[in-house]
Amino acid sequence: MSNHLFDAIRAAANLDDLFIETPDGRTWTYGDMFSQCARLAAALDSLGVRPDDRVAVQVEKSPEALMLYLACIMCGAIYLPLNTAYTLVELDYFISDAEPRLVVCAPGSLEGIVPLAARYGAHVETLDDAGGGSLLDLAKDEDSDFVTAQRGPDDMAAILYTSGTTGRSKGAMLTHGNLLSNAATLRDCWRFTSKDRLIHALPIFHTHGLFVASNVTLLSGASMFFLAKFDADEVLKLMRTATVLMGVPTFYVRLAQHHGLTQEAAAKMRLFVSGSAPLLAETHRAFAQMTGQAILERYGMTETNMNTSNPYDGDRIAGTVGFPLPGVSLRVTEPESGRPVPDGETGMIEVKGPNVFKGYWRMPEKTQAEFRADGFFITGDLGRIDDRGYVHIVGRGKDLVISGGYNIYPKEVESEIDQIAGVVESAVIGVPHPDFGEGVTAVVVKTANSLLDEQSVLNGLKDRLARYKQPKRVIFVDDLPRNTMGKVQKNVLRDLCAELYSSS
Ligand code: ATP
Ligand code: MG
Repeated sequence: MSNHLFDAIRAAANLDDLFIETPDGRTWTYGDMFSQCARLAAALDSLGVRPDDRVAVQVEKSPEALMLYLACIMCGAIYLPLNTAYTLVELDYFISDAEPRLVVCAPGSLEGIVPLAARYGAHVETLDDAGGGSLLDLAKDEDSDFVTAQRGPDDMAAILYTSGTTGRSKGAMLTHGNLLSNAATLRDCWRFTSKDRLIHALPIFHTHGLFVASNVTLLSGASMFFLAKFDADEVLKLMRTATVLMGVPTFYVRLAQHHGLTQEAAAKMRLFVSGSAPLLAETHRAFAQMTGQAILERYGMTETNMNTSNPYDGDRIAGTVGFPLPGVSLRVTEPESGRPVPDGETGMIEVKGPNVFKGYWRMPEKTQAEFRADGFFITGDLGRIDDRGYVHIVGRGKDLVISGGYNIYPKEVESEIDQIAGVVESAVIGVPHPDFGEGVTAVVVKTANSLLDEQSVLNGLKDRLARYKQPKRVIFVDDLPRNTMGKVQKNVLRDLCAELYSSS
C-alpha cells in the first residue's frame, strides 16, 4: 500500500540516525520514531479513527505530539492542530466546524472539552497523562506493525486553521501532495541533508513549525533539537552543535539583543531562516553585523505552505522575501480586475502551484471567491516584484487604508516613522473618520527615555510623505500586540483607536 507523504519520509530515513533530541536529554532515532508512530496509529485505529476522519489536537509541543501528527498521516486521518492558546469559546467554533472523530487535549483541559466534544459527537483522549489511560498508554499495548493506509497526492493530510489575523480563522485543506512537494522543494533549495541539525523552537500547531520545519527535516533524514519554546540563551547554546535555525522575526530581534551573539557563536550554523511576519531591515543588518551571516527571509501562508525564498546562494536582500520557489507561479494583479499590473507596481499577490491548498473546509463559496478562473489563488497580500525579480510584501489587502479616496499602504508610512529618532517601531491603521472615511493613524512604540510626542512625529513626516499619507493622529503604546507567530494584531489596535475621531 502506498501512502504519499509517509512513504517519502520513510525512504529518506536511516533507522539508526538521530531524529529528535530534547533539552532534558531524551532522544529518538528514526527507528524509535517509526515504531512509536505505528503504535499510535494502531491506537487511533482501535478508537475507531478511519481515513478522512479529523483528529483535532490541542496539546503542548513535545516529540510525542509530533509523532501523533505522523500517526494520523499513517492511518489516513486528517490531522487538525489547534493553537494551545485557544479558549473553550474559541474551541467551540473549531470543533463544531471540523466535526472531528477524536479530540486530543491536555489533562488540564478535559473538564471543559469533554462536554464540548460530546455536543459534536467527538471522543476525547489525552496524549500523555501520568494517571494512565492516555493515547500513549493505549499505544504501549499495540504492535508496531501497523499497515499504513493508502493515500494518494490528492488525499487530505491536514486541516490547518489560519491565524485569524484578518478575520475569523478558516480551515485550509492541505493534501499529501501539497505537503510533500513543498517539503521536497525546500529541502533542495536550502540544501538540507541528513547531516543537518535543526533548532526547532517554533510551535507545531502552525504551518511554519509543523510543515516547513518538521517536514523538511523528515524529508532529509536530518535531526532536530526540539525546544518547547524559544529561549535566546538556550538557542545560543545549541548553535554550537546545530546547523540551521528557523524562526519568526521576534527570535532574531531577541538574538540580536543578546551579548552572546557573535561570529564565533554562530560559526557552526549554515542557515538562519525567518518567516511568518516581516523581518525589519534593521534586524537583518544587526544580525549580519554580529554574525557575518545574512538571514534568509521567506514568505508563506497556511493555504499555500511556502511561496518564495531568498536565495541560498546569492544575495539575500533585506526587506524582500526573495524569488518564487521552483514550481510556484507568482503574479501581481489589480485586485478588482485580476489583470497583471505593469512591471514593478504594487498589487495583489496571486500564486499557483503544487503547494496551493485544495480549498477552505466547508466554505465552497469562500474558496471560489479566492481563486481566479485560471487556478491562481488570491493571497490577500499586496506586493511588488522589483527589477531583479525579488518579491516585496507591501502589506495586507485588508490593511490598506482608504482616506479621502486615496489608497495608503501602511508599510510605506511605517517605514518613514521608524526612521524618526526615538521610535522603536510603529503600526499604521485606518480608523473610522467622519470626513475622510478612514483616518490614517499611527501607533508608535518609543525608546525608554525618549521625549518624542505626537507633534514631533507629525513634524518629522511633513517633508517625507504626501499630505494624504500623513497620520491624522499618533498614539503611543508600550508594545505592539502580537500573536504567537509574531504578527502584529492590527485588529486589536483598530479596536483601541475606534473612537479616536468620533467627536471630531
Ligand atoms: P488570516 O488569514 O486568518 O487572517 P494569517 O494570514 O495571519 O491569518 P497565516 O497563514 O498564519 O495566517 O499567515 C500568513 C500571512 O503571514 C501571509 O499572508 C503574510 O501576510 C504574512 N507573512 C508570512 N511571511 C511573511 C514575510 N516574510 N513577510 C511579510 N509577511 C509575511
Ligand atoms: Mg491569511
